[in-house]
This record gives sequence, C-alpha cells and structure tokens, in this order.
Amino acid sequence: MSQHIDNPSQAQESDSSRECGYHHVDVERYYQASLEIENNRHHIEDAREEITELQHTEAVELFKKQVGLLQKRLVNDPKFFQQTFITEGINAIAWEFQQDELNAEFTRTLWELMLRNDDMSTLLLRFLWNIPLKFKRKFVRAIDTHLRERYPMFEGLSNGWPGANNIPPYIRPPHERADDFDLVNQGYMGYMGLGYSFREVELLVWLEVLRDKQCDDRPCELGLPKMDGGENEGGCPVKIHIPEMIHLMGEGKFKQAFQLIKEANPLPNVTGRVCPQEIQCQGVCTHNERPIEIGQLEWYLPQSEKVLNAQANFDIKDFDNPWAKAEKPPIAVVGSGPAGLINAYLLSKEGYPVTVFEAFHELGGVLRYGIPEFRLPNDLIDDVVMKINQMGGKFVTNFIVGKTATLEALKRAGFWKVFIGTGAGLPRFMNIPGEHMNGILSANEFLTRVNLMKAHKDDYETPLPETRGKHVIVIGGGNTAMDAARTARRLGGKVSIVYRRTQDEMPARVEELHHALEEDIELKVLRSPREFIGSDKKQFVTHALLDVMELGEPDASGRRRPIATGETEEIPVDLVIMALGNASNPIVKDAEPGLKTSKWGTIEVKSGSQETSIDDVYTGGDANRGGSTAIKAAGDGQAAAREIAGNVPFTESEIKSLVASAERYTEKGQAPQKIMHKIELAEGIVEFVVYSPLIAKSARAGQFTRVLGWDKGELIPLTLADWDAEQGTIDLVVQGLGSSSMMINQMSEGDDFAGIAGPLGLPSQLHRYDNGETVVFTAGGVGLPPVYPIMREHLRMGNHVTLIAGFRTKDLMFWAEPDQRIGLLQAEYPDLLDVIYTTNDGSFGINGFVTGPLEQMLESMKAGTGRTIAEVVTIGPPLMMRAVSDLTRPYGVKTVASLNSIMVDATGMCGACMVPVTIEGKMVRKHACIDGPELDSHIIDWDKFLPRFLQFRKQEDENKARHGFS
Ligand code: FAD
Repeated sequence: MSQHIDNPSQAQESDSSRECGYHHVDVERYYQASLEIENNRHHIEDAREEITELQHTEAVELFKKQVGLLQKRLVNDPKFFQQTFITEGINAIAWEFQQDELNAEFTRTLWELMLRNDDMSTLLLRFLWNIPLKFKRKFVRAIDTHLRERYPMFEGLSNGWPGANNIPPYIRPPHERADDFDLVNQGYMGYMGLGYSFREVELLVWLEVLRDKQCDDRPCELGLPKMDGGENEGGCPVKIHIPEMIHLMGEGKFKQAFQLIKEANPLPNVTGRVCPQEIQCQGVCTHNERPIEIGQLEWYLPQSEKVLNAQANFDIKDFDNPWAKAEKPPIAVVGSGPAGLINAYLLSKEGYPVTVFEAFHELGGVLRYGIPEFRLPNDLIDDVVMKINQMGGKFVTNFIVGKTATLEALKRAGFWKVFIGTGAGLPRFMNIPGEHMNGILSANEFLTRVNLMKAHKDDYETPLPETRGKHVIVIGGGNTAMDAARTARRLGGKVSIVYRRTQDEMPARVEELHHALEEDIELKVLRSPREFIGSDKKQFVTHALLDVMELGEPDASGRRRPIATGETEEIPVDLVIMALGNASNPIVKDAEPGLKTSKWGTIEVKSGSQETSIDDVYTGGDANRGGSTAIKAAGDGQAAAREIAGNVPFTESEIKSLVASAERYTEKGQAPQKIMHKIELAEGIVEFVVYSPLIAKSARAGQFTRVLGWDKGELIPLTLADWDAEQGTIDLVVQGLGSSSMMINQMSEGDDFAGIAGPLGLPSQLHRYDNGETVVFTAGGVGLPPVYPIMREHLRMGNHVTLIAGFRTKDLMFWAEPDQRIGLLQAEYPDLLDVIYTTNDGSFGINGFVTGPLEQMLESMKAGTGRTIAEVVTIGPPLMMRAVSDLTRPYGVKTVASLNSIMVDATGMCGACMVPVTIEGKMVRKHACIDGPELDSHIIDWDKFLPRFLQFRKQEDENKARHGFS
C-alpha cells in the first residue's frame, strides 16, 4: 500500500521550500493582491495596502528572489523552469486543499488544468491519487458542487463516495437500444457520444479509479482464501495485476496500464465486457456496496488506445515469421474460442509456428456465434485474430478435428503438440412431451442463426423462425438465456424468460439480467415447462404447460432446489428457446479412444496440468470444465501455453522438417475449395467436382459435408457422392430445390465455395453377408448419389446389392448409361449388382415408386422364392423413406434411412437436426449429424419427424422470390 499523507501540501512540497520555511499564506495574499492590481479590479486600494504590508516579509522577499532566479533560469534552461513551475504550482494547489472546501474558481481552474493532458495535468492526477481520502472527498464534493452543470454525472456523486457512489459507464437507454444490435454498455467511452472530449472521458475513468482503497492484500487479483482451504473465492482467473493497473491509471499513466494488462491477457477488450466480474474481481472488492468497475477499466484501456490510434493494438514489433525461422516445432490449436485464441496468441508470441483449426467458417467460438454484438462487437474478435496473424499464427476454418483429421493425423502432419479448446457445444433439452415440435429450438441454434449466419438480415439466406409480434419464451436463467431473450426482443418478439427458481438464483451476469428487465422482457420465475402443445398438423407449438414451482432445501449447487407444487399454468407461445446449458460435444472424444473423459464427457487433465491422457495433447476451457466462463477458458489456454512451451526434444533439422510439413498441411487446409468440374446431370441437378484435399483424404461411405455456397449463404448438408484422395477432390450432387441449392447450382467452374466442412456424420456400417443375401438400396432422385459410395463398398466387400433407383421421370435420370457411374458398376460387378429403375410417370423402367419392386422382393423373400434381403438402405425424399420403412417393418427387415435433415452447424452444436426416435417405448432425441446420418428407420417417429421439414417453408418461399426463382 502506498503511504498516505495527512497534509496534502506535504505530499508535493519541494525540498527548497521546506528548508526556507516560507509561508504560503503570505505569498498567496501577496500574489492575490498583485492580481487585483494587475487586473484593475475594484479593490485596488486594499490590494496596494496589502502589498505594502507584505512586501518585506521574509516569505515574500524570498518568493521575489526565487522569481528573479527563475526568470534567469528560464532563459538558460526552460525545461528546469517548467519543472519548477510544476512543483510550485502543486504547492499552491496543496495549499488550496487545506481550506474548508475548494472554491468554484479553483475547482474549475484545477479541472481545466487536468483536462490539458500535459505533464502538469498528469502530475495533478498523481497528486490527487496520492492525497489522503479526506482530501479526495473534498475534491469530489467540489466537482459535484461546482461542475455539475457541465457534467450532470457529477451531481450527487459526493454522497456516499467513494464506497457507495460512482460514475457508472454509459449505458444506452432501453428505449433507444431495445430494437437494434448496437452496443448496449458503451463503457466510459460511451460518454464521447454525448459530446465529451477524449480527455474528459479519461478523467471520468480516472475518477472511478480514484475510489480505489489501494488495498494491500489484492483480493481483486488473488481472490479471498476460503475457510475450507479450497481454491480462492473470486479474483482474476488470468491473474491480471489489477492493483498495479489501477495504480498506474490513478497516476494518469494509462498507456503503461494498458501495457501491463496486455502482458497478462491478450483479450482485455473481450473479457472486460463478458466476465462475470460480480463473482470474480469485483465480487471480492473491498468496496462491497459499489465495487470499482474493474471490468470497465479493463476494456477501457484497449478501447481508448484503439480510438486514439487504430493500429495501437497491433504494435507487435520486431516480429520474425516463426514458420520462416523454423526454430521451434509447430503447435496445433483446435477451436478458436477464448481458450484456443489465447493459447495461439501466447505460443505465437513465444515464436512457435501455430495453426488454429476451427470447425466453423468464422473464428471466435461462443464469442462470435453465441454472444450477440450488442454485448460484444465482432471486430474485437477480429482484432485478436489479426494480432495472432501478425505474429505468424495461421487459421484453418471448416476443419473438424475428429472428422477432417484425428489428433494423430495432426501429429503425423508435423505438429509437435496439440491444444484442444473445442468448448462444450452440445445443447441440453428437457425431454418432455411436445419438445420435438416446430418452433422449439436450442439457444445455440437461435443465436447461431442470428449472430453467425445473420438470418435476421434480408440479404442473408439462413432462415429464422418468425419472432415479430410473437410470444417467445426462453427457458433458463443463465447468460445464454439472457442473450437469446434480448436477441428475440430485438427481433420484435414479446419475450418472457421462464426460470424454475427465483430471480436471486439466476446464474446470469447481474448486468445482463438487469438490462433484459429494462428492455421489457418479462420474468416468469418458479415456472418450469411440463409439456408443449401444438394444435395443427404442421406441429407448430402454440402453448406451453408450465409447472408452478416452489423452493425447497439447497441442492449440490448450494441453491435451493425447485420443487413442483402440482399446480400448472398454460401460456400461449409461438417460439420456445431452450437455454439449459451445454453438454460436451463427443466428436473429438469418439475419434480418440485414448482420450480420457469424465462421465459428463469433458476431457480430463492430469492433476495440476492441462495435459490430457494423450501425451503432448492439452486441453482447457469448456472442453475440460463443461459450460464455464470466457475468462476461465482464457486462463486455461494461458496455463496450457506455458506448459506447451517446454523443452523441445528435436534437433534443428528435425524442427525444420516438422515446420515444413505442418506448413504444407496448413496450406492444404486453407486452399480455396474450387469447382474443378461442373456436370449438368439433368434439369436442375448438377454434379460438382470440388478441390478439397483434406475431406477427400478422410471421406468414408455414408458421410456428408456442410456446405456454405457464398458468404451470405446458408449452411446446408450435402452427402458425399464420391471423392478422390489422390486428386484431392470430392463430388457433390445438388438438386436445385430450395433457394440455397438453386443458387449453388448457378456456380461455375473456377468458383470457390465459401466453405465446405467434413466429412461429417458416422460412416455407413458395413457387414459382409456370406449367404447370398442381398442388400437393397432404394434411392429416390438425388438419393442416388449418396447411395452410390455405400453401394460400391458393399460390392467391394463381395455383398450382393439390389439398387432400386426411382425418378419422377426419365428426363431426371442420371448415371444410368454404360459409361456412367451405375453403368460402370454394373459392368464391374455383373453378378453382384442388380439394378431396377422406376419412374413415377412410367417413362422409363417400372411405372411407379421404388416401393413397388421392393414389395415384390419382400413378398418373394417371404415366399422363399427370392433372395433373402439382409437389409434395406433408403435415401431420398423423406416421404419415400417413410414409405419404405413402413413397408419393410412387417417383414422384420432391418432398414436404415440416411437423413438429410435441417441443420445449422452439423456437428451437434445446434441440435437442429433432431430426430425423434422411440426406444423401449420412450421418445429419445437423436441427432442426424452426430448419431447419423443413418438411423434405424423403424424407431424413427415419422409423424413427429416429417413436419420438421416444413419449419421454414414460408422463409424458403420468401428467399426464392427474392432471388427471382419461382
Ligand atoms: P468455445 O468458445 O465454445 O469455442 C470452441 C470452439 O471450438 C468453437 O469455435 C467451435 O466451433 C470449435 N470446435 C468445436 N469442436 C471442434 C472440432 N472438433 N474441431 C475444430 N473446432 C471445433 N461466459 C462469460 O464469461 N461471460 C458471458 O457473458 C458469457 N455469455 C455466454 C453466452 C452464450 C450464449 C454462451 C453459449 C456462453 C456464454 N458464456 C459466457 C460462456 C463462454 O462463452 C464459454 O465459457 C467460453 O466461450 C468457452 O470458451 P472455449 O474456448 O472453451 O470454447
């Protein structure tokens, strides 16, 4: 703690003045009298008398001598004069502080001096920062009294200052903000929007800092020890030196404060805005009534630097490209959320060549797809990405570790160590009746549609459930619930948050909850959904039946347990957003048998380390903790970076070779996914051969890709029709039915897709049938391309295959000629492959649907006259798959449907591709992208599943009209 001084004049009194012992009072009176005369004011006579009386006092004579001396020095050494002037000025100010109150003129003059933003003003800030609290209070009383007209936020500030009163950051008023996505909490910089200058804002920030008690035990940084000796309560997970940061700001050294914070946390502009400060740094602040706004100070520093100089955040000097230098082995970072980004930043800074592999086409993880821009502008994530780029860090998007490549494959590609920061993006549902209905979706899906895919903007393709004027309920009480509710509110919804406990138990950041309430969002507490009810055939939800709850004894979380009272309440709803938290995404775990996970699916780490059960593979953030916080994720990324940067076991030449290999691999991942060939198969049906070497290398029969045609397009699933690992190409067949597929079909050879991720889903399960049984494929229309590679695998295994390919009409048929795919297979496997064509209009093959010949085969099998059908694989229009499923059920023939359902991220993160299935009489939720795409068609609840395809029919029609498709 810095030493406090009881008399402010002692704080800055110069040595010479103390030695001479001259009295400020005499000098001050003499000086004031001179001013009266100089300015020709009306007390000239009195002033003259005073001068005569004082001019021979010791103090005044000394003062005059000093002035003479100063004048001489001014000529010889202007710098010294300036310093002396400052020192003497401070003495005068210190003298003023000894008066009962600071007068108006002095206060205004002092403020003006502080505003000058020069050496003198910095000194003044330092002076005020160091004076005892009683003088600080005097200063705050003075600005409250004398400057309140100019600064309305000063009015009343002195009441309860410093502990219980402060100048809050600028929050846009609810009526201005509730309909747009602009930043709500504009921080102290927000006052610039009201016409205050940059320096004025800096002083407002400094006034906040001035409240600091300068505590010795640093609770804001270190937290408070717990009685049980466990991890400290509160404090900063990345150990920002908060007291020092505040001290530097208190002394007016804002730049130095920024440098200090950057050392500990490359994301202050992010974490300062989204951290739950009320349970971390601010939660243990000794000003417990109104803690210092540490979060606001944290993001003020980078933001103000950005305002002063757009390049300030990128002042990375003397940077040598670590890939070119190749002195350290390459590191792979999986996932670009806060954990991955901070890890990549710190390792790049240490000179490691780093590649970040991200599943989405955009970077930032939850910071981008989850947290809306009215809370966290995307350009702040871009800033961090740019910084990493500047230090040589590389990014590969649309790359799903566990699918595009395994961890082992990354190591084989040259990466020495891997950090997994894949988050916990698998939304939870309640598994209650009616939850499958249209109009019920996860918060992840809703927020991703809006934040990532910009579905609310007219020129973007992704559909969004209707919200304007609709009754929207959000289930949950955390940050995700607040973000979803406030987003729906901005889209015109009448929004209620349904929470099973009371407001006091809500885990959301206090600020977000407060803002939600200000924005007219209703809270329905002590309510929990029991059932969702829909009225029409399309299965859109119309009502929610809620259990009325009460609070019982505390549960494991320490919060009182909600208990159903037996009473219920029914409310009308059009849209239900489930914000119940996230479980762990199984993709990485499922692909890595050696990776130890907890019973909740989180990746386990060794004690006191971030290393997983696989050597040289580290993890942190939500992947390890389950749903947690951004700052804890950042803390883990930081801790892992320290561990990763250990002893390098390679020779110089080995490192060079690893770097070259990892760089080649990275470049492959970054290569534009270009259309090499475009083949018109039939009217409205196009085959694309696309360069996508990493997908081609990992593709297996039955898998699909997630395709983004163009920047403003929609993410759609397209099954792999074929691939060529040698050429690095994949084949996609697209029928232009919806606006996205129609737009994609207009792309030409040489065009790049905005992003293709894959291969996704589980590969087909292939069995060898030894007894001459046949595997029947029923392919409807463009169901043929996904059938093709699966069928080929069966043939390669020696299984007999019957293909029943159905088309609406002959003109829509493709791949049937002898030199085309099916024809070539027939030639290659004449004894193993039977092909039957059907057309709905009878223009080719059998007249009718694929079910016709299938039924005949089933009957022959039953009669013992035809081949035994080992299994049926059905791929095509959902109604056809259902018909096939219904047909085979009575015969007890295993039937698999490959589902191409509505999805957004296609990795399980959104839950949109829900397939209701019945297992042992219970409805269970399966996801086409994680559990499928192939599912046992006999357990699918088709009545519930099929209406899901109609969810966005209206939006689809609107999109078609917008593009001029009819
Ligand atoms: P994430 O941010 O989840 O990032 C993981 C990244 O990995 C994603 O980009 C994902 O696409 C990618 N990925 C996943 N699987 C793979 C794979 N197999 N291969 C490649 N990439 C993959 N915390 C706060 O502190 N304050 C808040 O206000 C707050 N609000 C929130 C609001 C919402 C809506 C949500 C959902 C969460 C919120 N959180 C908040 C929680 C916080 O965002 C998370 O704790 C934090 O983002 C976790 O960071 P992470 O880096 O571990 O993972």
